[in-house]
Amino acid sequence: MSVETQKETLGFQTEVKQLLHLMIHSLYSNKEIFLRELISNASDAVDKLRFEALAKPELLEGGAELKIRVSFDKDAKTVTLEDNGIGMSREDAVTHLGTIAKSGTADFMKHLSGDQKKDSHLIGQFGVGFYSAFIVADKVDVFSRRAGAATSEGVHWSSKGEGDFEVATVDKPERGTRIVLHLKSGEDEFADGWRLRNIIKKYSDHIALPIELPKEVAAVEGEEQPAIEWETVNRASALWTRPRTEVKDEEYQEFYKHVAHDFENPLSWSHNKVEGKLEYTSLLYVPTRAPFDLYQREAPKGLKLYVQRVFVMDQAESFLPLYLRFIKGVVDSNDLSLNVSREILQKDPIIDSMKSALTKRVLDMLEKLAKNEPEQYKGFWKNFGQVMKEGPAEDFANKEKIAGLLRFASTQGDDGEQVVGLADYLARAKEGQDKIYYLTGETYAQVKNSPHLEVFRKKGIEVLLLTDRIDEWLMSYLNDFDGKSFVDVARGDLDLGNLDSEEDKKAAEEVAKSKEGLVERLKTALGESVAEVRVSHRLTDSPAILAIGEQDLGLQMRQILEASGQKVPDSKPIFEFNPAHPLIEKLDNEQSDERFGDLSHILFDQAALAAGDSLKDPAAYVRRLNKLLVELSV
Ligand code: ADP
Repeated sequence: MSVETQKETLGFQTEVKQLLHLMIHSLYSNKEIFLRELISNASDAVDKLRFEALAKPELLEGGAELKIRVSFDKDAKTVTLEDNGIGMSREDAVTHLGTIAKSGTADFMKHLSGDQKKDSHLIGQFGVGFYSAFIVADKVDVFSRRAGAATSEGVHWSSKGEGDFEVATVDKPERGTRIVLHLKSGEDEFADGWRLRNIIKKYSDHIALPIELPKEVAAVEGEEQPAIEWETVNRASALWTRPRTEVKDEEYQEFYKHVAHDFENPLSWSHNKVEGKLEYTSLLYVPTRAPFDLYQREAPKGLKLYVQRVFVMDQAESFLPLYLRFIKGVVDSNDLSLNVSREILQKDPIIDSMKSALTKRVLDMLEKLAKNEPEQYKGFWKNFGQVMKEGPAEDFANKEKIAGLLRFASTQGDDGEQVVGLADYLARAKEGQDKIYYLTGETYAQVKNSPHLEVFRKKGIEVLLLTDRIDEWLMSYLNDFDGKSFVDVARGDLDLGNLDSEEDKKAAEEVAKSKEGLVERLKTALGESVAEVRVSHRLTDSPAILAIGEQDLGLQMRQILEASGQKVPDSKPIFEFNPAHPLIEKLDNEQSDERFGDLSHILFDQAALAAGDSLKDPAAYVRRLNKLLVELSV
């Protein structure tokens, strides 16, 4: 035992304590994954060393044979993992193994319910990594030294996985990290060569560097124990370099968990080798579940970049657009230089053409998923739909393709689930329908019953119901799909085109003519509140409705802008009334100007309420309504 100096005890960050508690109590059904997680870290550490050693070969300290060794001691009940990767300094150990740096973690932890079954699902969004050691161990010792640091600058980190950990400075002759797991009672089954070999084969076969176990040599009585011989138990080649036909689904899945630090299997993947002017291999994955920090600006995104099989960087963001930030995977290029930097990536024209090819791959993969596995695509949409909706604004070139992947709620469904694609919509459109109709609003309940839909219901025309905050903004980027333009049914003077028969149109014109007097009276009564008054042909049941001017901001955009403190341009609605409604008939026959004014304002305010807007002067509304009620009851 070497001398330990500068020993100190430090407390774990609160979030680490919560994670440890959760892990220890909820991941009991699949304990063996601890080995996968630790091997994954060791492999990352070796990748980092290999890369740094390109510029500084002295970091290899004469030992360029990179590997991971797993050993065990049945009597001491320990399992030990050793890698000769980049290693950790004392400060590294304190920060990396004592805190979780991901932004949003504290918020995420607040969602823990204390119900272990529910929480164990949450942990899947998080990834467990190093701390999974405590699933099987009641004490973990980590010995590490940064490559290139002096032998005396090793660190010994030790913890029982409760509130705190100890660190001390120790001598460590070999660079890299050794982790000793002191198995909990009842977990000694893991101190077994056969068991460890099986776990490694199952979860870590894809790791590109050798994982060695001691060869089982039968002891001969009376003879001295022979020196340990090591044997490689995994395939030890980079998975993406193998031909697609030779890689099993399980291997793709395990590799994903390593790359994405995810706990669950991916939903889909696409593995491609490109040859020709540019040469590269990509392996892209769609996760099953969204990570908890999908909407955090600083959340990790991007692909793992390799150049000729040498790991170069994590989170290379230049290969995919932002709206595909949830895609995980690797890209291995033959054209880039090994000392490529993030700055160079941003400017390199090679990257641009790779980016557009990779973007297309992802969109193709999603199209295929939508077509062949509609149920899975539903799940995808639930998790990532909001992010996909950022697509049309960001990626003009692929607008039509992205539009085809969008899913909406519609008047054909009854639960507001976003399942209708634009192609489905058009496939079942009415004969002669050359528009895609939609309505935006705050909530599904509100739009579902909107008076704007009355004429569509009567004619049996499907309308898409858009209630995500981003929807109105999204629609401002979508003009048409498959040659059919989008029409906001709450906007402008609704023209149903061929869907209205000639007789309908004629009749409408006649009615409009006969109500010219009423229109004028309403204009005078409503005055400054409206931009225009007109006879509606979109209403069957409601007396009146407010339409938005063709060029005006919709309610949703107005609310978003107001909430962000921006000045919203003034706009007035168009008041449309239903000439066949008894209230309107009553209004038309009203002799008293005062009554006429009150009733018109009530109708106007009600129309605003039905559209989900708030009233400018709610007290006036209540006063007018009560006045009428009193008159009614006498
Ligand atoms: P993640 O791998 O998702 O970052 P972990 O909790 O598994 O989270 O690990 C935290 C950090 O500890 C790693 O990012 C790495 O910096 C460091 N680390 C873990 N294991 C090793 C290792 N074997 N060698 C060097 N550094 C390591």
